[in-house]
Amino acid sequence: MEISKENKPVVVISSKATKSEMFVAGELIKYIKKIVGAELTLCDDLEDFTQSRIIIGSPVRNRAAQALISQKEFEEYVTGSEGFLIKSIDKETLLIAGREGDGERGTIYAVYEFLERFLGCSLCAYSHPDIEAGEYVPEKEKITLGDICYIKPSADRQYRGACIQYGSSAGNPNHGLNTSFFDWIAKNRYNYVYTWMSVYQKMKKSGYVEEAKKRGLEFMVGHHDVTDFFLPPDGNESFPEKYYETHPEYFRLEKDGTRFKPTDAFGQIVLCSRNEDLIKQISENIVFWLDDNPEVKMLQLAPHDGVAEHCVCPKCLPYSKMENYTYFMNEVAKRVVTKKPYVKIVMMLYNDIWKCPENI
Ligand SMILES: [Zn+2]
Repeated sequence: MEISKENKPVVVISSKATKSEMFVAGELIKYIKKIVGAELTLCDDLEDFTQSRIIIGSPVRNRAAQALISQKEFEEYVTGSEGFLIKSIDKETLLIAGREGDGERGTIYAVYEFLERFLGCSLCAYSHPDIEAGEYVPEKEKITLGDICYIKPSADRQYRGACIQYGSSAGNPNHGLNTSFFDWIAKNRYNYVYTWMSVYQKMKKSGYVEEAKKRGLEFMVGHHDVTDFFLPPDGNESFPEKYYETHPEYFRLEKDGTRFKPTDAFGQIVLCSRNEDLIKQISENIVFWLDDNPEVKMLQLAPHDGVAEHCVCPKCLPYSKMENYTYFMNEVAKRVVTKKPYVKIVMMLYNDIWKCPENI
């Protein structure tokens, strides 16, 4: 296959392409234009073609691919999640296809791998989008592809995350490098972003969550502000109930008989770990929120920061801090997964909370 200003293959995507498939087809067109100055045309798989073509997506996703390779044959190459195949079918036909599902990340990775391995791009660094730096993209008269085949059967590791931290309990998450960073982590095959609940909420409003989703990314949300979000002492936009007023018993009993009121990201375990009503309430609030946030596949119920005494109520007192935290996590997880079986409830092992208790 030759790609130049004179020889322009069409790029074929599914007529039912997801936002991620549309996005990555656009990426392929964008980079090929940078390399040879030719703008390829995007077509869908319902059209008939006589010219050369680059088909994006597996036989399950793309009818043009289905005409060339059976699903059974494709899955002999691509055996598991996030795997992909880059293969020249003949002199005029190139297939760039990932295993379906998982936000079509396999196809996203296939396109970027094609750009790096076969076209000589380097996508391993990034900079501000206004600055031509970080990435290397060669410039050529034409691209000539021989008989090529590259297979990545499946992901080696299921979870590959990058943390967006932003200093203290949230900072300003609407950072000018966010989109460049999401680009970079998708190109380098991280599959989720881990961040604070408050950062995620702001990114959702400002459109950055959508930007991440287009790149196939999922979210692990949590961190030191997560329990305050689901059981806000003074209410919040999502959960207006002022839980410290309505249910002071949900909060940690201190040795002096008062109930701890969280005011910042510190205080470690700020809730009573063994109040059954609290466990039921926070589980319900989590399920309610997950309904609107399907891109969150992992929810980390982290303690607040720092080291502090845990609850001294009669139910919590006989157990260690770690036993209480583990009990609480298990009880919440049991309830949440009955409604959201795809969601993982994630522990934060941090400071003096790290050692797996015996018999739990
Ligand atoms: Zn307690």
